[in-house]
Amino acid sequence: MKVGLVGNPNVGKSTIFNALTGMHQHTGNWPGKTVVKASGYKKYQGVTYLIEDLPGTYSLMAHSKEEEVTRDFIYSMDYDALIIVCDAVCLERNLNLVLQILEITNKVVICLNLVDEAKKKKIKIDINKLYNILKVPIVFTSARDGQGINQVMENLKEITNKKSSYLKLNYPQSLADEINHLSAFIENDINEDPVLLNLLGEKEITFKKYEKLYQNEKFLKQFKTSQNNLKKQGIKKDDIETLITETIVNRASTIASEVVTFTKKDYQKKDRLVDKIVTHKFFSIPIMLLLLLLIFWLTITGANYPSQILYDLFFSIEDSLANFLSFIHIPDSINNMLVYGVYRVLAWVISVMLPPMLIFFPLFTLLEDLGYLPRIAFCLDKTFKKCASCGKQALTMAMGFGCNAVGVTGCRIIDSPRERLMAILTNVFVPCNGRFPLLITMITLFLIADGNSLVKSFVLTLFILIGIAMTFIITKILSKTFLKGVPSSFTLELPSYRKPQIIKVIIRSILDRGIFVLKRAIVASIPAGVIIWLMANINIQNNSILQICTDALDPFASLIGMDGVILMAFILALPANEIVIPIIIMGYLSLGYLTDMNDLTALKDLFVQNGWTVLTAVCVMLFSLMHWPCLTTILTIKKETGSLKWTMLSVLIPTIVGFTLCFLVTLIYNLLF
Ligand code: GDP
Repeated sequence: MKVGLVGNPNVGKSTIFNALTGMHQHTGNWPGKTVVKASGYKKYQGVTYLIEDLPGTYSLMAHSKEEEVTRDFIYSMDYDALIIVCDAVCLERNLNLVLQILEITNKVVICLNLVDEAKKKKIKIDINKLYNILKVPIVFTSARDGQGINQVMENLKEITNKKSSYLKLNYPQSLADEINHLSAFIENDINEDPVLLNLLGEKEITFKKYEKLYQNEKFLKQFKTSQNNLKKQGIKKDDIETLITETIVNRASTIASEVVTFTKKDYQKKDRLVDKIVTHKFFSIPIMLLLLLLIFWLTITGANYPSQILYDLFFSIEDSLANFLSFIHIPDSINNMLVYGVYRVLAWVISVMLPPMLIFFPLFTLLEDLGYLPRIAFCLDKTFKKCASCGKQALTMAMGFGCNAVGVTGCRIIDSPRERLMAILTNVFVPCNGRFPLLITMITLFLIADGNSLVKSFVLTLFILIGIAMTFIITKILSKTFLKGVPSSFTLELPSYRKPQIIKVIIRSILDRGIFVLKRAIVASIPAGVIIWLMANINIQNNSILQICTDALDPFASLIGMDGVILMAFILALPANEIVIPIIIMGYLSLGYLTDMNDLTALKDLFVQNGWTVLTAVCVMLFSLMHWPCLTTILTIKKETGSLKWTMLSVLIPTIVGFTLCFLVTLIYNLLF
């Protein structure tokens, strides 16, 4: 059986999906995080259910790309049942979508989720009364604890035997009359009222099964007459959506007033009080910066210990590994490549990169689960408006902290195509998890050597702010050049603050992030290790290919405060930003400096021997923050924009900005010192 999971954004669809399928779809307390359909299986009493988790939508009158995915799925009728998830805390608003779906199908189970939250807020729902009105099964669920999930399955089991029937909404008489005239031409087994209304309003919905209607001359004639009739009564095409909405909203409101009782009238008081502070005109930005600083401080302080332990562990077995490979007669040259190339890169990635990620992400996820992200979008909306964009861009930036490819896909939550493109083109200015550790390492080695974590976090925050400032500047420039236009207004729900599941968040993000970072690092660093080794060992006229390439890049790289090896590392790290530093290390090592890499001081020595100064470190940081996106992100941009022009621009913009900034910094440094 094919079952679609639908509902408003942020009501627990993905949590229910995970509870049903045992999968780990991303969940978080903000509307819009699910932008693509996910599928999974559930076996229940001998039947296999294919469950599809769809992006959230408030209505079937879709306004954004991801809402269209859900709308098209629902109208396709290509499923055996739907599970409509509702937030029990605000049932009235959720009923709008429920009513629209029940107009089309009754193969539905309704989940009144977040019932634990509703209980806390002393909101009571008379489920029997609601059943008598809607005539479809309704189950109370608390998806986070798995409560009610079995009951959902029990009800799904019964659905196939159900006879089709539809909920009829009382549209204004003028509309109802025209629907009646038009429906005479349709032989369908579904209730066509909503479709006909959409057609009358000329809303763009591509229904395959209605295509032949347009070839039916009699239908077209009636269609024109109906539109004219409505016009004569003062109802224009654009008014139709308003009339439909009014009908649905009024009905939802009547139903809610019959079935919901609020025992505690000021149940939102605490949330509103916190919101007054965190979205305050003057305090909101400092609070945001303090939170960022706190997260970085905890990350940098906490990562030191596990990093050192892992470092010691890996490098203590390095010699034994080399001896073992000799023992099993692996030729010296290959042995060196495997141990001092591939193994070192992996050891470095795991010990230096993994710990900060595993601290940063759970902390960030806790903020996300609490419901803070939409507040950031709200607070930054004004600034984005000044750049002719909207606050939702801040949400896509927040996603970019995890992975820019995810941030780019997340741009689907932005309705205006112009603003979506601006968000896509600038997402790379937020450093993803592959770039964070590089920034932290550079700060630790060259900028703040005395180990004061707070100062380090402060410097890291400053660099992130440079990236954010650049996002604003480039967005503004784009809005004045390639993507001219006025900023759109946007609606974004500020969800109730919800208590994060601390233990679960920590375990999940450690597992998911850990595996994600490791997989990427291994997949990208092994081939990179081999390539570097080959380049260092294949000679042309007594010079290794690596030497030839880095020598060729050297003059250009020195203009931007770096050297040929560093620039080469950035180029070779196109598949994954995580491996920039490991490639630099391998590059230097293969060029003749063999160092015992047992701690960060050794790393600094290696860099200093190769001519690094504070300027090099700053330029490496700036360039890491602003250069071409990684391959995965580039491919995602191509997929999302469907255009080579925008994809090329997304590569060129950060690259030009990075080169220019590093060039200017080098120029000023050289003038001053
Ligand atoms: P979706 O956008 O509808 O897929 O919603 P999610 O599944 O991502 O859930 C939104 C937020 O609500 C997450 O922070 C979940 O942990 C939380 N959540 C989901 N179901 C429940 C529930 O039954 N009770 C509580 N307290 N929180 C829930």
